[in-house]
Amino acid sequence: MKYNNITPQLVQNLQEAIGGDYVITGKERIEAYLFDEVEKTYRPEAAYDSIVVKPKDTAEVSQIMKLSDQYQVPVIVRGGATGLAGGCTPVVDSIIISMERMNQIEEIDAENMVAVLQAGVTLMDLLEELEHYQRLSFPVHPGDEGAQMGGMAVTNAGGARAVRHGVMRKHILGVEAVLPNGEVLLLGGKLIKNNAGYNLTQLLLGSEGTLAVITKIILKIFPKDQASATIVAPFAGIKDACHAVTDILQSGYTPLAVEYMDKRLFVDTAEMMGLKWQAQEGSADLLIILSERTQAQLYDAVKAIHEICERNNCLECLYAGKEKEQEELLLVRSQHYELIKDEICDSFDMAVPVSHVSDFILNLKKLVKEYDTDTNIVAHIADGNVHNDILYLPDGTIPAYADELKHKMYELCASYDGTVTGEHGIGKIRTQELSDLKKPAELELMKGIKKVFDPKGLMNPGTLFEVE
Ligand SMILES: Cc1cc2nc3c(=O)[nH]c(=O)nc-3n(C[C@H](O)[C@H](O)[C@H](O)COP(=O)(O)OP(=O)(O)OC[C@H]3O[C@@H](n4cnc5c(N)ncnc54)[C@H](O)[C@@H]3O)c2cc1C
Repeated sequence: MKYNNITPQLVQNLQEAIGGDYVITGKERIEAYLFDEVEKTYRPEAAYDSIVVKPKDTAEVSQIMKLSDQYQVPVIVRGGATGLAGGCTPVVDSIIISMERMNQIEEIDAENMVAVLQAGVTLMDLLEELEHYQRLSFPVHPGDEGAQMGGMAVTNAGGARAVRHGVMRKHILGVEAVLPNGEVLLLGGKLIKNNAGYNLTQLLLGSEGTLAVITKIILKIFPKDQASATIVAPFAGIKDACHAVTDILQSGYTPLAVEYMDKRLFVDTAEMMGLKWQAQEGSADLLIILSERTQAQLYDAVKAIHEICERNNCLECLYAGKEKEQEELLLVRSQHYELIKDEICDSFDMAVPVSHVSDFILNLKKLVKEYDTDTNIVAHIADGNVHNDILYLPDGTIPAYADELKHKMYELCASYDGTVTGEHGIGKIRTQELSDLKKPAELELMKGIKKVFDPKGLMNPGTLFEVE
């Protein structure tokens, strides 16, 4: 694809379209808009001759897209930049649309149980707004509340609570989207049932900013649960822990979240935070979070899940019912990254069917031993979604075997009918893996869809597919 450079004329047109204060040029000033949260070692190389624009509304986004189309300069959308796949890094000189000013919560429609949100509303903004409503909540929670609704939509974000609530795809009823030629579409709406034609809303979800700019989201919201508890269930080994998970899923008592981390991570993160991890015994701990409408329902669920864990040989379970205790446990789970981030050179987000999780984890551990190294395992275990990593050598360098080990990990995942990414997406760091994973016919269909939306290939080049 042949792209043009950003000319002074284009800059002037952009300034006229959205106001000079909201167009940022210059390598030093745009540096803050180039990267996401991917490990530095593997993040894509950024195109520093890009330009940042900050539209305030859909009409301005449309004008920017028309200019991109006219000048044949690519566009890349930057949401909260919490992505873990290099998605919002421009790899060719681009117009970076930063969505930060499009942060209006347009409507909380309690009667229809939907929220209408500009795409730049962050998860934190939404959760704070819902605090004002006694009875409403939004459950999907990827780890970083700086993520924006638009970014969460196009990455189809998941997170720990997917066990009960699924991923973003389940909760978006409609979107407003601006096509690469500047045309504005309203897809879907406040409709629970809607079978009119192909579902283009769903096609845009998970498209990682390669088809259109999402400017508005119509999002389902939910009644707030009134009672919660957290169980720490230690097991002698991962096999028993995973059997307990599948039994829990079959029982009909669906927890909000079931999280697994290597025992060392629970113990050492707690210590780093000045706390003590109370589950001393065992080598495989599950953190099971329950959330129910009433205390009576919570009591039933805790009892049933405890019995299931006992039937699967769990050691002594611990219970947290008070809010502060539960928050501390969750904090240990979410802060583990601080403990290990300096040792990680590459990280993974594979997913396998739930029934294969224990074998997959055990064999990952075995595989890294062959290279005389280790890997940290953190899993949304009841979704079969396993995060692990390759570590730097003790001297801080990238091991020579890193690529080979990565491919062996992916082969192992494939042998369990898994996928290379359960939630973080392909972005710009797993394009080869996407083409290895998919059959040619499926890849061709994907590329065909891309062409229909974006015939000039202007949206987020290098994401999902290599730049041609
Ligand atoms: C500590 C931490 C923990 C995390 N845990 C999880 C987790 O448990 N589960 C999970 O799923 N993710 C997790 N993530 C990843 C991340 O939060 C998600 O990928 C998030 O959904 C991305 O949203 P964003 O607004 O930050 O998007 P960005 O990073 O800004 O962008 C991501 C992609 O979306 C595109 N994009 C953004 N906004 C738009 C738009 N309005 N229109 C079109 N394209 C757009 C970008 O071009 C890019 O390709 C975690 C991240 C961190 C840092």
